Amino acid sequence: MTSSLPNIKDLTLKELQQLMTSHGEPLFRATQIHQWLFSHHAESFDDMTILSLAFRRKLSETFSIERPEIVEHLTGIEEACDYQTEKILLKLPDGNMVESVLIPSAERLTACVSTQVGCPLNCHFCATGKMGFQRNLSAGEITEQVYTLNNLVAAKESGKAITNIVFMGMGEPLLNTDNVIEAIETFSSRNYRFCLSQKRVTISTVGVIPEIQRLGKSGLKTKLAVSLHSANQEKRELLMPIAARQYPLQELGKTLAEYTASTGSPVTIVYMLLKGINDSLDDAKMLARFSRSFLCKINLIDYNSIINIKFMPVFSSTKELFQQYLVNAGLHVTIRKSFGTTINAACGQLATTRYTKPQ
Ligand code: SF4
Repeated sequence: MTSSLPNIKDLTLKELQQLMTSHGEPLFRATQIHQWLFSHHAESFDDMTILSLAFRRKLSETFSIERPEIVEHLTGIEEACDYQTEKILLKLPDGNMVESVLIPSAERLTACVSTQVGCPLNCHFCATGKMGFQRNLSAGEITEQVYTLNNLVAAKESGKAITNIVFMGMGEPLLNTDNVIEAIETFSSRNYRFCLSQKRVTISTVGVIPEIQRLGKSGLKTKLAVSLHSANQEKRELLMPIAARQYPLQELGKTLAEYTASTGSPVTIVYMLLKGINDSLDDAKMLARFSRSFLCKINLIDYNSIINIKFMPVFSSTKELFQQYLVNAGLHVTIRKSFGTTINAACGQLATTRYTKPQ
């Protein structure tokens, strides 16, 4: 049952430190409590035996310790594929829902996590955008998705473990950068049980320019993926009006050039092919021109059809011609197979169908 007390897992490390100061406790206690919550997965303050009994009591009178609950768990049946995509719908303590996905392949097991409930950017091809924006996830809620998926994997005894994390679920990660960075620092820290190299983490953005600049200076070792979907300003505004107008292509290209120059790390340009919209050779030409000015690889992805959204995926032949043009132009191009079509794996599809606004 959900408690009426605030969930201590929603506090950032800095807020925990402020809490310690207000209780006259040393600052290192904040790190200890954080580790008990996110490494030892304490379910009660009584588990935190490093704290005095009196302080544990005070904490339990003020805070609860809560985890998200899996309310739906779907497994995909992929055509001609040995691997199964799994999607979970998580109910957060306040009743909001988010999705997290496990995407297996021969060499990887990727966890795809959400960063916001809904999204304010309302890209026209996206189910999450149709939900509107409810709120940012806390760093704890982002971290908990990784741990929940990890528990699912561990329970299978398949010998597999999560090898990569992508921030490509619901929401725009770089509109919640503080919490995304704190979550990454937690699950990549050697002081926590789940410890994944930052180099295996990809942050995907529609191109939030100031936050890309911030990431470039942050010292994080994560990778960056940019959802471009068109290298033509007008078309991009038709597909993703808010993002495209706020972060125009020309400025975005300049920012990516600076980012790759300062980090030495290539950017992945994600390009979703939409039939009759952005799939012509002219579109490929514009994409090649845009991508030449910085270190990148291009990832062409299929569109997962969404009910009530009128875009269509392209035929394989169109995709191959598009790819060939880019390869001939000297670009590094991969085609990402579409996973999870049987389980509404495109971000937000499951949550939108199950979503009812919490009271
Ligand atoms: S594609 Fe990403 S940024 Fe655009 S509405 Fe969906 S979640 Fe938001």
